[in-house]
Amino acid sequence: MRKKHAETKQEANNNKMEQKTSALPETKMTVQQTLVLIKPDGLIKSLTGNILTELSSTDLIIVGAKIVQVTRELAEEHYQYLREENFFDELIKYIMGEFHTKRVLALVYHGENAIDSVRKVVGATDPEKADPTTIRGKYGRVTRAGVFENVVHASENKKEAEREIKLWFRPEELVYTLYPTESKKTTKVEFFWKE
Ligand code: UDP
Ligand code: MG
Repeated sequence: MRKKHAETKQEANNNKMEQKTSALPETKMTVQQTLVLIKPDGLIKSLTGNILTELSSTDLIIVGAKIVQVTRELAEEHYQYLREENFFDELIKYIMGEFHTKRVLALVYHGENAIDSVRKVVGATDPEKADPTTIRGKYGRVTRAGVFENVVHASENKKEAEREIKLWFRPEELVYTLYPTESKKTTKVEFFWKE
């Protein structure tokens, strides 16, 4: 009996040690946020539900969401790093909705390893090269003009995620304060529903 009791204690100690070591990879993982856009082709094809379902396999949570009519200014700022590409003008027209519908659904996903988890489900940039089980592989296409209509955008890295989230969302539009904020007094005209 005594021996058995001692073994059980040892077992308990072992378990504790195991828990400690198995917790290590988790502490190494980083909690991040990433910007996801359901592009105008995704909306016109009524793929919102399918895309959100695919993204729910990541176990991340949505901390911000809104429908946006993309201005040229926002489009050019978002894709500023592609300014020199020959497909830039077509890309701007695409994200502004000139080929489909003038709407983009902007979302912020938050949780462990958010950037890579989302990119994995989204798939490669070129829908023809994307794994057919990914969102872009399933629903994307390449146009004759050479634009990859790949139905979703997902931030590439931490720096881009921060730049993009700050570009698309104001602090109060997110349920968590993901980045430091500051308050400024302004005078502006605001719209209210007429009483
Ligand atoms: N794109 C394109 N042709 C290219 C490269 C990119 O039409 O040869 C478009 C495509 O819609 C892509 C977007 O430009 O999603 C942004 O390109 P990026 O290289 O950042 O790819 P992503 O991060 O979206 O995978
Ligand atoms: Mg990119």
